[in-house]
Amino acid sequence: LALLYPAVQGLGEMALTVSQAAAGADRVIELLRGRPTVTDAPGAVAVGRSRGLVSFEKVGFAYPGRGRPALQELSFSAVPGQVVVLTGPSGAGKSTIAKLLLRFYEPGAGRILLDGVDIRGLTRRSLRENVTVLHQETLLFSGSVRDNIAYGRPGASLEEIIGAAEAAGVHDFVKLLPQGYDTPVGQRGRLLSGGQRQRIAIARAILRDAPVLVLDEPMTGLDEGTVEQVMRPLRRLMAGRTTLLITHDLRHVPEGARMVHVDPVPRVDRVRLKRVGFQPHTARLSAPP
Ligand code: ATP
Repeated sequence: LALLYPAVQGLGEMALTVSQAAAGADRVIELLRGRPTVTDAPGAVAVGRSRGLVSFEKVGFAYPGRGRPALQELSFSAVPGQVVVLTGPSGAGKSTIAKLLLRFYEPGAGRILLDGVDIRGLTRRSLRENVTVLHQETLLFSGSVRDNIAYGRPGASLEEIIGAAEAAGVHDFVKLLPQGYDTPVGQRGRLLSGGQRQRIAIARAILRDAPVLVLDEPMTGLDEGTVEQVMRPLRRLMAGRTTLLITHDLRHVPEGARMVHVDPVPRVDRVRLKRVGFQPHTARLSAPP
């Protein structure tokens, strides 16, 4: 049991702090391999509640074993009450930004700052407590509606859970369920619709109350009617927080949001380099013929 404890503790930490599939999967892989890709630095500081100032300064990153960087020289900053839209084509590195902010990986170049402090100097747990991630496909577990909302803040009272559900616009529909808040949601929440799952995730995030919010394609897969039902509570959730909205669909971008275009890192055009006489090993350019 003692041997298992760190892994179980790690999973608990993941569950507490991240509600997203991609980063969650990376974390599970980390745990199964038994070697986290990123560990706390010696003397790392546990940050309290952040003011929500996020800055990326010339951040570059390549996944381990991948030659081609996923991000290069990415800079932007975001402050509380602001929505920064990170947009760009598929594969440009938008989701990678969230993984770096949560320190599932370390940038190879540049810095990421929270309240002006390099996140490498913070404990991962305290960093992740300040960030909520919402994904297009919310991960609900097979407990009750109440358990799934309370997951945002273990130990929350029923009153607090209902308050969050009201703010997320799910209270009225939960009341009508056969067992109200004690109704099981089914495996991965399959007894609920996509929009209901998303609003339960918003209720969870409201309860969690982290100052930084990362929304990774939150509207994908929802029909137009449902989008407005999700947008309304989402606007409430975003109010006063720092929001990074990752999307390539610009239809639902809130007014006043700041756009940051994430460009894919260009491939090295080998054919063109060959044409101008590029020597890969000597890295010398000869005069074109
Ligand atoms: P999409 O809009 O399709 O979600 P994206 O802009 O979010 O794309 P990322 O998912 O951040 O892009 O991926 C950026 C690049 O990094 C892609 O080339 C992708 O194949 C690669 N990549 C993403 N995750 C990993 C990983 N765990 N290991 C190796 N490469 C990865």
